[in-house]
Amino acid sequence: MGCIFCSIAAGEIPASIVYASDRVVAFNDIDPQAPVHIIVIPREHHPSIDALAQTDAGLAAELLQVAAGLGAAHHGGYRLVLNTGPDGGQSVDHVHAHVLAGRGLGWPPG
Ligand code: 5GP
Ligand code: ZN
Repeated sequence: MGCIFCSIAAGEIPASIVYASDRVVAFNDIDPQAPVHIIVIPREHHPSIDALAQTDAGLAAELLQVAAGLGAAHHGGYRLVLNTGPDGGQSVDHVHAHVLAGRGLGWPPG
């Protein structure tokens, strides 16, 4: 089975790209949960943030830096989410940060 986020990073399937560098890509979520809902991924496939943090902490930091930069562009604040594992609600096994903004976000999350 192919990885959908690897396919997006490779340009093999379309996405609304909002940021791209040689290492990181960001695109609008296909099913937005807030007025701003961006997915930020490393181009390289890593299954989760704990896998990435252990193998390439520099890339994990870059992912966070890009996500924070995209969030900070919006007045009123933002939320970064990295769903990890089944209980964490991770549905795509390619590490990704959600950037959510544009409305008041409830706490705690579901
Ligand atoms: P997770 O549930 O793993 O934390 O987040 C996966 C996110 O990827 C979901 O919010 C889902 O809507 C989004 N997503 C899944 N498939 C696609 C796709 O093909 N294109 C885009 N743009 N987003 C996707
Ligand atoms: Zn992948």
